[in-house]
Amino acid sequence: MNAYLASVIENVKSKYANEPEFVQTVEEVFSSLEPVIERHPEYEKADLLNRMVEPERMFTFRVVWMADDGTWHTNVGYRCQFNGAIGPYKGGLRFQANVYPGIIKFLGFEQIFKNSLTGLPIGGGKGGSDFDPAGKSDAEIMRFCQSYMQALYRYIGPDVDVPAGDMGVGAREIGYLYGEYRRLKGVFENGVFTGKGFSYGGSRIRPEATGFGAVYYLENVLKHEGESIQGKTIACAGFGNVTWGICKKAAELGAKVVTLSGPDGYIYDPDGVTTSEKVAYLLEMRASGRNVVKDYADKFGVEFYPGEKPWGVKVDICMPSAMQNDVYLEHAKKIAQAGVKYYIEVANMPTTNDALRYLMDCGLIVAPSKAVNAGGVATSALEMAQNSERMVWTAQEVDKQLRQIMNTIYTMSVEAAEEYGLGYNLVAGANIAGFQRVADAMMAQGVF
Ligand code: GLU
Repeated sequence: MNAYLASVIENVKSKYANEPEFVQTVEEVFSSLEPVIERHPEYEKADLLNRMVEPERMFTFRVVWMADDGTWHTNVGYRCQFNGAIGPYKGGLRFQANVYPGIIKFLGFEQIFKNSLTGLPIGGGKGGSDFDPAGKSDAEIMRFCQSYMQALYRYIGPDVDVPAGDMGVGAREIGYLYGEYRRLKGVFENGVFTGKGFSYGGSRIRPEATGFGAVYYLENVLKHEGESIQGKTIACAGFGNVTWGICKKAAELGAKVVTLSGPDGYIYDPDGVTTSEKVAYLLEMRASGRNVVKDYADKFGVEFYPGEKPWGVKVDICMPSAMQNDVYLEHAKKIAQAGVKYYIEVANMPTTNDALRYLMDCGLIVAPSKAVNAGGVATSALEMAQNSERMVWTAQEVDKQLRQIMNTIYTMSVEAAEEYGLGYNLVAGANIAGFQRVADAMMAQGVF
């Protein structure tokens, strides 16, 4: 490997050994960049890569809130403003018990390249808290969000940093967070958040956008192989907002999602999550806060596999859409054995690096999440555009732009890999194309 690249990766590994998810994503992105670094010696001269792995700034803050029984609780809040070279920091907030700096930094780092790939002016950021929303009442969620925003409001803004949702943060949380921001600042600056409810500046199609975008990307991949999505079977993981969007769009295009998963196991529905009743039920399951997928099996009389993952089920396409590190090498082996042809990542970093390499070596067609799931944040950028224009676009208009953006992300990835002699490699292509734009902007703006 190129000596400079190797030294940067070594540096990150030793400096951030206690943040394994962050190390993992840096290795994944940078291992694609060898030909780029070789062709651009000026990057090493400006020490571009060591600068890229350090967030521009990152805060932690105290979030104190009162439970319904009158007891006080203290959590840690985070916001990482990772890279603002191409636009205001942009990325979601994750509320989940396992959140710590390594998770926020891995998500923030990925976000830089994902946002760059959209071609829109958004930098990379991420935030969240180790707050566990499971089982909390609506009033508790509201008090937590208000306290969170009291700590954060000074550091964000429509031209500064624009948070959104992620796991544990949906339209309800965004509403409470934005309400508190508006109260504290005394301005209707709704461009400070995306994923808002439609009544106060949210965009049509934003709730569906990540799932729809993933399916639009998939269509490009299938077309390249001379195939169509019609009649295809898909194994999904998770049952949250992203999986919901995939089920909905796949059904509309004549494909079917046959598995869903949760922390309790997975379900197999041979008829697919295709009817509007089934698709709507995913939202109910999520809203219940129970976080179990078995409810789907009970309701629709399909098989439930407790404690297992859907990797190894015979399908045409796997779309891991739950969370990071859901697919390990042992699962990758089962996926390859089951004769799956397409492995389309959707969740942020759902695959360990060795599992991803294994699937590519086995000849599966592999697409990386930072390209596949970019439709969500791209539609967030469209929401920002509508807010700053004081305009509301129709669902058709947003959907049309989303489809175009996904097609462009696919094409840019294919072309970037080809330009560097890597053949049809969607993983390397996405990393290179995403990197190139941020690198150009950082080089132009001087060393800091
Ligand atoms: N959390 C989503 C992501 O991982 C959306 C971020 C946004 O819309 O800003 O890209």
